[in-house]
Amino acid sequence: MAESESLTPADAFELLLTGNRRFVAGAPEHPNQDAARRAEVTPGQRPFAVLFGCSDSRLAAEIIFDRGLGDLFVVRTAGHVAGSEVLGSIEYGVAVLDCPLVVVLGHDSCGAVGAASAALEDGVTPTGFIRDVVERVTPSVLAARAAGRTAPDEILAEHVRHTVDLLLERSRVLADRVDAGQAAVVGLCYRLADGRADVVAARGLDVTADSAS
Ligand SMILES: [Zn+2]
Repeated sequence: MAESESLTPADAFELLLTGNRRFVAGAPEHPNQDAARRAEVTPGQRPFAVLFGCSDSRLAAEIIFDRGLGDLFVVRTAGHVAGSEVLGSIEYGVAVLDCPLVVVLGHDSCGAVGAASAALEDGVTPTGFIRDVVERVTPSVLAARAAGRTAPDEILAEHVRHTVDLLLERSRVLADRVDAGQAAVVGLCYRLADGRADVVAARGLDVTADSAS
C-alpha cells in the first residue's frame, strides 16, 4: 500500500507502462497476487491508478498491465461510456483514494464502437439499454467522420480522446486535480493482437505516443 502514497502522475503512468511491456513481452511477473499481498491490503486500499476501460473480456485490466490486488481501481463499461455512476466511481478513485492517474482504455475491434458505426450507416439501433451504450459512442463516431477520419483505428482513437475530454468536462473534481498537478488523465488504445497500449491523449502529463512503444 505504501508504495503508491508518494507517486506522481508520471510515476504511476510509468508503473502501468512497465507492467504492460512485461505482458507484451510474454514475461509477466504477476506482482501482488499472493496471500501476503492479500493480507497487506485487507485494512485498506491505495491503488495507484483508476482504470476506466471497455468491458471487453479480452481487456482484463490486471492481466494486461501485469498488476495485482490493491493496484488498480477498475471501472469498466461496454465502449467505456460514462454515465453518472461511472463518473462517481472515477471521482471516488481520485478524490477519496488519491489515485494520481486515470487511464481511459479503448481497444481495436470494439463491439460498441462497431455498433455505433453500423447504426449510423444502416440506421438500425439496438433495443433495450444496449441502445443507451451505442448512443453514447455515436458523438465520437460523428466527430471522427466530420474530421475525415473513417478508419476503425482513427474512430477508436477519437472515441478515447472524446472520453478523456468528457471526464474532464463533466467532473470538476477530476479537472481540479489535473489543474493542480495532482492527477493526470491518459487515453490509451489497446491492440488485441499484440497486447500493446498506445497513448492517444494525455492531460496533465507530458507523454507522447512513443512513450508506449
Ligand atoms: Zn470494447
